[in-house]
Amino acid sequence: MTTSPYPHLFQPLDLGFCTLPNRILMGSMHTGLEDHARDFPKLAAYFRERAEGGTGLMVTGGISPNLVGWLKPFAGKLSWPWEIHKHRIVTDAVHGAGGRICLQILHAGRYAAHPLLVSASKVKAPISPLTPRALTAWGVERQIRAFVTTAKLARDAGYDGVEVMGSEGYLINQFLSARTNKRNDAWGGTPEKRMRFAVEIVRRIREAVGPDFILIYRLSMLELVEGGSAWDEIVMQAKAIEAAGATIINTGIGWHEARVPTIATSVPRGAFAGVTAKLKPHVSVPLVATNRINMPEVAEGILAAGQADMVSMARPLLADPQWANKARAGRRDEINTCIACNQACLDHVFVNRKASCLVNPRACAETELVYTPTAAPKRIAVVGAGPAGLACATVAAERGHRVTLIDAAGEIGGQFNLAKKIPGKEEFHETLRYFGKRIELTGVELRLGQRVDAEALLAGGYDEIVLATGIRPRKVAFPGADHPKVVSYLDVLTGRVVPGAKVAIIGAGGIGFDVAEYLAHEGPSPSLDTERWMAEWGVAPEFEGPGGLARPRPEAPARQLWLLQRSPGKPGARLGKTTGWIHRAALKAKAVQALGGVEYLGVDDAGLRIRVDGQEQLLPVDHVVVCAGQEPLRALVEPLQAAGRAAHLIGGADVAAELDAKRAIDQGSRLAAAL
Ligand code: FAD
Ligand code: NAP
Ligand code: SF4
Repeated sequence: MTTSPYPHLFQPLDLGFCTLPNRILMGSMHTGLEDHARDFPKLAAYFRERAEGGTGLMVTGGISPNLVGWLKPFAGKLSWPWEIHKHRIVTDAVHGAGGRICLQILHAGRYAAHPLLVSASKVKAPISPLTPRALTAWGVERQIRAFVTTAKLARDAGYDGVEVMGSEGYLINQFLSARTNKRNDAWGGTPEKRMRFAVEIVRRIREAVGPDFILIYRLSMLELVEGGSAWDEIVMQAKAIEAAGATIINTGIGWHEARVPTIATSVPRGAFAGVTAKLKPHVSVPLVATNRINMPEVAEGILAAGQADMVSMARPLLADPQWANKARAGRRDEINTCIACNQACLDHVFVNRKASCLVNPRACAETELVYTPTAAPKRIAVVGAGPAGLACATVAAERGHRVTLIDAAGEIGGQFNLAKKIPGKEEFHETLRYFGKRIELTGVELRLGQRVDAEALLAGGYDEIVLATGIRPRKVAFPGADHPKVVSYLDVLTGRVVPGAKVAIIGAGGIGFDVAEYLAHEGPSPSLDTERWMAEWGVAPEFEGPGGLARPRPEAPARQLWLLQRSPGKPGARLGKTTGWIHRAALKAKAVQALGGVEYLGVDDAGLRIRVDGQEQLLPVDHVVVCAGQEPLRALVEPLQAAGRAAHLIGGADVAAELDAKRAIDQGSRLAAAL
């Protein structure tokens, strides 16, 4: 045991031929840097920072073993000796920093976004427009050989091991499950034959790479799809994979086509550790628990309870490369916590953009966004302690500037103080805790409760003035907009107004959806209670039955709600790529009526009058909550300009349209890096 406050997390793990320094596995995450040789130096810098940060073992993003296994055209692939060279840059960087790294071998199967896609059978995925070709028996052999070749090349490239991706609905999973494997040959028909593909891959890789090479197998332990594997099959698969030579079994939760959220911020922390725990008595190789493990006490709790031998964290290490060192030293308050928003990581990757992190814009930009100490310290005033101002002030102070951060409110955080009240967004508290600690550590002078004006700024004699004053809510203009029934989202979320039993929400952007979620719930958030959350989403309590699914039992809505927008089409189309469906499904479960193509005719004592498809309707509501977007708050710009002083504008004060915290933090950090 170590002297860390998290002794189980920092207990070394002896794998027989090597010892890992702690129980932290950085899970595989596609960053977009794996796809081009030119980006490998950046990829190396990204992994080097995480190795320096004390991570025990890391896994690369998915690398395909051949062309047909590509996730998308020209995605990362390792199938020829001449492709090794670029990987050496990564493995050398990691080993130079004292770390260990495995290459993940991922064959997309029917999830491939290119016309060469193959699968166990000709069964189209519901999330893909393409139908796969069923592999012939010879084709199956070729795929297995491709996995083995890639594993051998990974070893030649200096990796410490490989992870075979057997979950999330990719090719191996497509063979394992009766949902997608309709074969009647040696590779399908019975559970034993369906798992032969996975077992042969592991067995032949072990044979080819020898005993002293880490072989992680990512086992699909809870599929969350109809017709998915049942628990007894999963136990059988785990035992066979162990016997075939796996060193470690990692947990896979949910196929990509599953309609149960598995990693979004509304998923309770550590919600799926029970799945790994249920497998523990059946195998003796180390098991890794995954999904929504983002803080050391969560990881320690899982390990201390004996639910798993290691914990996997991918996004939390994107958010803070020093996560392990900070936890080990008992500095958990300094951890920049992943809030599971997906906004800069997965949402980017799904639209072929390089991944980064909302709370850490340096993620995947380690070589380009560098916070170099300044040679010429300046006095800087930052007005507004929302995400943009917080990022700017703390990065500037970290670089050696003398920073004064001023906010009219009594607490830091700006709109994040509203966001954190939304059920399922409790993680936003962590970002505020992190910035609070950063202010302390970097020596930012914080002045709260001061609505600063231009004279005060001019009198302060600052070298630089940064305006991060945020936004003001947009007002609506229709008859009755000034009726007492009409209130702003600010009134509701600050508690100034408690809406009645029937409420219409005008505007179905991110805030409209969040307000609907807030008004639909009553009492403690289900995101803080795994049992209630699983009941809401239909996860079987003991993970039994095909796919581990049960009938969803959503709690009754607290109010009758209408969510409206003027644009045609279903509201929510512009929400995040990987989370929009969750918000839409959550509101559907609360019977929220979401309407597009709405014309607002007016509000009176009877309610809100609207026209949809030419039909007039009266919504008999007690309140109308306006969430109609925002406009920049820039009251200080003109008087400063008039006095001949230039100021930097960041966040909502700069551009309110399409503003989110990702842009606010990125813009604040980049400005501070350049000052
Ligand atoms: P703000 O957060 O608005 O901060 C501006 C600050 O300036 C305020 O604290 C204000 O008091 C201060 N100020 C203004 N004028 C003065 C003055 N004269 N003197 C002193 N202080 C002054 N974004 C996401 O990316 N993801 C989400 O999931 C998300 N959810 C949200 C949910 C809700 C309910 C809300 C309301 C917003 C959400 N957002 C989300 C949006 C996100 O919070 C904003 O994009 C972000 O806060 C903008 O940051 P900012 O620093 O520009 O401005
Ligand atoms: P938004 O996304 O721009 O949505 C504004 C909504 O108001 C739209 O539905 C718009 O639709 C409607 N609207 C605009 N002008 C109107 C008018 N004059 N009268 C009536 N309706 C009008 O803005 P937001 O919801 O205020 O969110 C602000 C920012 O916070 C967003 O950029 C968002 O990214 C961020 N945020 C993100 C999340 C997240 O989960 N990622 C959550 C909350 C907030 P119509 O024009 O069709 O009516
Ligand atoms: Fe976590 Fe959001 Fe950063 Fe992704 S973008 S790593 S989900 S905080």
